[in-house]
Amino acid sequence: ATPTAIMVGTGLGAKRGVLFKNAIALETSARIQVVVMDKTGTLTRGEPEVTDVIAEGIAADELLRLAAAVERESEHPLAEAIVGHADARGLEPLRAGRFENVPGHGAVADVAGRRVAVGNRRLLEREGVDVGTLDARRDEVAAGGRTAVMVAVDGVAAGVIGIADAPRQTSAAAVAALHDLGVEVVMLTGDNTATARRIAQRLGIDTVIAEVLPGDKATKIAELQAGGRRVAMVGDGVNDAPALAQADLGIAIGAGTDVAIETADVVLMRSDPLDVPTALRIGRGTLRKMR
Ligand code: ADP
Ligand code: MG
Repeated sequence: ATPTAIMVGTGLGAKRGVLFKNAIALETSARIQVVVMDKTGTLTRGEPEVTDVIAEGIAADELLRLAAAVERESEHPLAEAIVGHADARGLEPLRAGRFENVPGHGAVADVAGRRVAVGNRRLLEREGVDVGTLDARRDEVAAGGRTAVMVAVDGVAAGVIGIADAPRQTSAAAVAALHDLGVEVVMLTGDNTATARRIAQRLGIDTVIAEVLPGDKATKIAELQAGGRRVAMVGDGVNDAPALAQADLGIAIGAGTDVAIETADVVLMRSDPLDVPTALRIGRGTLRKMR
């Protein structure tokens, strides 16, 4: 690359809030064949809100109160949504003890003398809970593209809390623009497969890799790189950092965590998914000028 082409490309990017950290990042952008996008906080706004509280054998407010007590100890965005909803309903907070965070699963704690588990199906299985009829409730919530958080009290399935996180306004347009560039788009998420598929369908994404444990995101990137395919990863979370590092090009959402921003090769200051195709186009333009 000529220094001039690099300077022009970097300058063009900077004007649009697309920060290339170095010349290699700019050159790699031109050669990307697959773009992997994290769901929560990247394709979606990352502002989850409770939409459904489905209780079984317990009052809905009681379920919410118990779940919120556990989630008050957690820093997960889903936890924040549940606590916020309980507070908005004016429910008296309960104290939790023996809190246990289970990454990629959820959380468990003692609340008012009961053992309360809040998380995905995998968490309830791990706790030895017979999920029973809750599966059907979960599927209903997931079919709407909402995340279904399951709750068990003293080892008994007690309900499902549905949480919606709206796609960013330009996510669908970004996917379409990437397809126009001949790039394959993949969604990568820890969320339930049905929920992820529904959102992917709305955004025009055909490949979904869901229910991925936090430690396994980088492995999934490596699998996509098989055969020498050049893969970019777009993410915002602490969970995404190893995958951003593994990818040929790591792209961080500007509104994301410091770790993601530090690890990435490109930072999108406006947190706009449309700036992903913009970055690739600037890279291609730079490469063309070099020849
Ligand atoms: P992601 O942010 O991509 O959804 P995570 O690995 O953080 O990935 O979580 C995976 C799944 O585990 C979530 O979709 C959710 O179902 C469940 N989960 C994790 N932590 C919590 C929590 N504190 N409360 C409820 N559910 C949780
Ligand atoms: Mg995320």
